[in-house]
Amino acid sequence: MLTLRKTKPGFGLDLFEGTDAPDPSAADVTIRVESAGICGSDVHAYEWTDGYGFMVPHLPIVMGHEFAGHIVKAGAGSVLPEGTRVTIMPGVDCGVCANCRRGNARNCLSRSAIGLTRNGGFARYVTVPAANCLPLPASVDTELGALTEPLCVGAEAVLTGEVGLGDTVLVMGPGTIGQAIALFARAAGAGRVFIAGKADGPRFDVLRALGFNDILDVAEAPLPELLDGIKVDVVIEATGYPPSVTDGLGVLRKGGVLVVAGIHPGPLTLPLTDFVRNRHQLRATHGCERPTWDKVLTILAREPDSFRPMITHRLPLADGLRGFELARQRAASKVMLRP
Ligand SMILES: [Zn+2]
Ligand SMILES: [Zn+2]
Repeated sequence: MLTLRKTKPGFGLDLFEGTDAPDPSAADVTIRVESAGICGSDVHAYEWTDGYGFMVPHLPIVMGHEFAGHIVKAGAGSVLPEGTRVTIMPGVDCGVCANCRRGNARNCLSRSAIGLTRNGGFARYVTVPAANCLPLPASVDTELGALTEPLCVGAEAVLTGEVGLGDTVLVMGPGTIGQAIALFARAAGAGRVFIAGKADGPRFDVLRALGFNDILDVAEAPLPELLDGIKVDVVIEATGYPPSVTDGLGVLRKGGVLVVAGIHPGPLTLPLTDFVRNRHQLRATHGCERPTWDKVLTILAREPDSFRPMITHRLPLADGLRGFELARQRAASKVMLRP
């Protein structure tokens, strides 16, 4: 079958005609992948920017960690029968380290990741642990199902920021994660949601289609000017550009919370005196907790089509490299590959 693989350190990915997925062992299932999203982190691994060296011992690897499909073969121990439509939680806990044994699997000391350190969803079939599959609600098709993972990342950032009723929220970064943050901030009751980006036309269009009109283009003016002096209650950063953290702190009210969600290639210079006098709370979010998946699927099931504008391109897997280029040049928002 056709797969999209990372084969070696350095720029690029390979379209590869390889063998089919292995038969599932008792604890596994084989998925027929129907939609698989290209994530920002996939683009970084494609470009081979700093921070992806952890993949090297696992190469070659079929990428793709945002996907959904249906079970075609269930191992003897799977509680989900063949035919079940599922989305995949990419983090695989080891089950035996000290943290896993304490019931704290989120902090597993030797986690693997489907699509990053073991084969993922840029293939027609993939065999994964049954415990990583979540059934999709009837109203959620597999294309929206493949959006669940980035939606969970955004939802977790909103939970980490403790966004509350009537809050003014600034989301920095208009990509898929920023869009998810904006949607869940609104769902959490935010009174006003601003989204900042830089000359990001196609993604601004997506945000407007999602019903957001407070879009700030920092290519046009500095952030405080665009906000007209408004100080916000919560800033959530999803840019991966370190100076955006200090820019965000500059418009945060006293005692407000700034959540860092981006993956940054370099360190931050933080003016500590202002930070302390303003009692600013700086928090980090990464991935999501298991219960967040259920919360996101509940909201997705209630209003599935309100999320659909996030998906701007649908391509067959054979055109996967074109999809990566569209994402890399920020000409696309979410690109879904259809193996
Ligand atoms: Zn992702
Ligand atoms: Zn573990």
